Amino acid sequence: MAEKRDYYEVLGVEKGADKKEIKKAYRKLAMKYHPDVSEDEESGEKFKEISEAYAVLSDAEKRQTYDQYGHAGMNGFSQEDIFNNANFEDIFRGFGFGGGQGNRQSGGFESIFDLFGFGGGNRNGPVQGDDVYYEMSITLEEAASGLETDVEIPHKKTCPHCHGSKAEPGTNTKTCPECGGSGQVRQVSNTPLGQFATVRPCRTCRGEGQIIETPCTECHGRGIVNHQSTIHIKIPAGVEDGSRLRVPGEGDVGEKGGAPGDLYVIIGVKQHQLFHREGSDLVYNMPISFVQASIGATVEAPTLTGAVDLKIPAGTQTGTSFRIKGEGMPHLRWNGKGNLYVKVKIVTPKKLSPKQKELLVEFAEVSGEEIYIEDKGFFDKVKDAINH
Ligand SMILES: [Zn+2]
Ligand SMILES: [Zn+2]
Repeated sequence: MAEKRDYYEVLGVEKGADKKEIKKAYRKLAMKYHPDVSEDEESGEKFKEISEAYAVLSDAEKRQTYDQYGHAGMNGFSQEDIFNNANFEDIFRGFGFGGGQGNRQSGGFESIFDLFGFGGGNRNGPVQGDDVYYEMSITLEEAASGLETDVEIPHKKTCPHCHGSKAEPGTNTKTCPECGGSGQVRQVSNTPLGQFATVRPCRTCRGEGQIIETPCTECHGRGIVNHQSTIHIKIPAGVEDGSRLRVPGEGDVGEKGGAPGDLYVIIGVKQHQLFHREGSDLVYNMPISFVQASIGATVEAPTLTGAVDLKIPAGTQTGTSFRIKGEGMPHLRWNGKGNLYVKVKIVTPKKLSPKQKELLVEFAEVSGEEIYIEDKGFFDKVKDAINH
């Protein structure tokens, strides 16, 4: 979209123009660009532009905001907000527009809305139901095996009592006399500039076309109710944390023939005490003793399906990973599973008995390692104790 023009420039008035001048300028331009009188194809856009400029500059508060902050200051206003105080009726009555037959409240204002295609609009059209999001959390084991379960989903459903008719069953509903059931009212005004027609939603029936004498007692005439539905879902094996599972048509119900929204179940996979996940692989950090690492051992390693024997070869260094094939997570999109990696960490013993210490000192001596021990006396005592 092109950059928005300055409102004063749009109306062709000076910055300091008073209310009268602004109104006069707008009236002149409106007469030229009103889509019902102008042949220009772009008149609709042009008319909207001048009307918006007028709506802002004719309202003291909005004008002050605009003067201070420019268009940026208007960002907080919706289109409806911008137009809601402007008295277009007054303008159009001045030269015959929008006057018509006993205009209610703000006929001109409503006409402007219809012309621009916002507010009111076609209230009879289908309205699609909203999507519903539901979060659930599962364990890593459940993510690995997949899960079928029932979940209770709060969503909007067609009222089971009135089946969406909004009327209490067995009571009368009559066709709206104002609009004849179309839900819209067409208003034609003859002006010196030609015929001016607007279509707006019927106020008597609020665009419904029907008048309900006794609203449904269950949904209070809304036709929809909040409902907890039990929905059966299938979570595929291998699902990842944050995955969204779409269940078509289980969101909020649509209105007036609109399609229902979808349900999205957002899966959270809980942290596991032993394993962490890297894609389809699992990693387990396993502590082993330096003795096991040095001379080799067969240890029990946990997997999601039970313990398996893992051979630690002699001379294993800390940080070494051992692969256990096929004990990872199932692949989501193809057959097979990832692997489990057991990463060993050699743990230095923190508390040693005198005997253990002695053996280690001996070990060091055999290895030709020199060891300086602060508490030499202690070791002498130990040696003495053992030698005697
Ligand atoms: Zn109902
Ligand atoms: Zn009506």
